[in-house]
Amino acid sequence: MNTMTDRNIDLFERASQVIPGGVNSPVRAFRAVGGTPRFVQRAQGAYFWDANGQRYIDYIGSWGPMILGHGNPVVLEAVQKAALDGFSFGAPTEREIELAEEILKHVPSMEMVRLVSSGTEAGMSALRLARGATGRSKIIKFEGCYHGHADALLVKAGSGLATFGNPTSAGVPAEVVQHTLVLEYNNLEQLEAAFQLHGKELACLMIEPIAGNMNFVRASVPFMQRCRELCTQYGALLVFDEVMTGFRVALGSAQSIYAQAIQGFKPDLTVLGKVIGGGMPLAAFGGPREIMSKLAPTGPVYQAGTLSGNPVATACGLATLKEIAKPEFWPALSARTLRLVDGLKAAAHKAGVPFSADCQGGMFGFFLLPELPQNYAKVMTSDSGKFNTLFHGLLDRGVYIAPALYEAGFVSAAHTDADIAHTVAAAAEVFAQL
Ligand SMILES: *Cc1c(COP(=O)(O)O)cnc(C)c1O
Repeated sequence: MNTMTDRNIDLFERASQVIPGGVNSPVRAFRAVGGTPRFVQRAQGAYFWDANGQRYIDYIGSWGPMILGHGNPVVLEAVQKAALDGFSFGAPTEREIELAEEILKHVPSMEMVRLVSSGTEAGMSALRLARGATGRSKIIKFEGCYHGHADALLVKAGSGLATFGNPTSAGVPAEVVQHTLVLEYNNLEQLEAAFQLHGKELACLMIEPIAGNMNFVRASVPFMQRCRELCTQYGALLVFDEVMTGFRVALGSAQSIYAQAIQGFKPDLTVLGKVIGGGMPLAAFGGPREIMSKLAPTGPVYQAGTLSGNPVATACGLATLKEIAKPEFWPALSARTLRLVDGLKAAAHKAGVPFSADCQGGMFGFFLLPELPQNYAKVMTSDSGKFNTLFHGLLDRGVYIAPALYEAGFVSAAHTDADIAHTVAAAAEVFAQL
């Protein structure tokens, strides 16, 4: 591509004049991998086209929501119909009930759900509810898990074991994170120690059951079981952040996978987003009736939103959830994702590139490491230079993966066998150069 005619460069320069860093969410800026972000013109099925008209196979899918691919006709019709009836009312609608019912049907740990507009808002509200319901302040989160950018959750581990954290962003006062304990993911000893020291003051433990914000790291079954036991023992709430994994790794979300391995397992609160909006701004949090009733207007925990349960967004989410609830959907999606992951593994192996990968449903992750990492520190031992070569090699061959090595990837129902084959062949060419 002749740079003189590269509209992505022109647009990025123009954007950088009026939008900080040229983007409305930092990872889009390609800072980690270098180069110019692709400005998307339009998308259809498994593809999007950039400002130069260049086509890419899309493995981000808006960071998860586009599980049916772009422009699914059933979803499109539902959105168009809803838009004709009005964009927003600030008064309740029947479709909010339908979406709530549809969510609860598939995630039985929730008896009630509150709809909001972003994962950040849902996580922040779930945290307030956990504190309000328990009357406690302290919380546990894990290094490498992302729960949105609420102040109390922008925190990294302190200097000692089971000490409280430090802010990871300017503008977050130390006092705001003084109640947030940051532990290593999958570290049973730290978990035990933290509960022993602070268990009776803990409002909740918040966790990504499959951590998609450190690419793809599963909480081990024994670790998750211990999280559940300790929360129950000490009266803290177990909060599952399934903004990414919800309706993405399985119809019953990640909690259904742990429930298969651990008798009677369920979280207390669940945070959802991404897929449940089908690409529209929509998220949710829910749990047992007794806890959810503590929210305003029935209870003392305040939470509200002008655009919450937006009629166009709920139409999009509801149509998406109904499509993915069809019985043939999950086996097909899982098989396609597995085919991609197996293909990449085989290609890396053939080229002698250290490589490990994992997937569940329509979500996958891979590492330029010989074994799957179990925590954030291990994820970060991945070779970022090699990842950047792989990223740009794939991009040049029309394959768009997340522009950072600590982000998961997503396959949609619109990806074809030919798309997978093209991707694996492109990766094989790049692996040969690594
Ligand atoms: C994306 C994400 C969020 C934040 O959601 P936004 O809609 O971007 O605010 C929170 N938690 C997890 C696990 C996520 O993947």
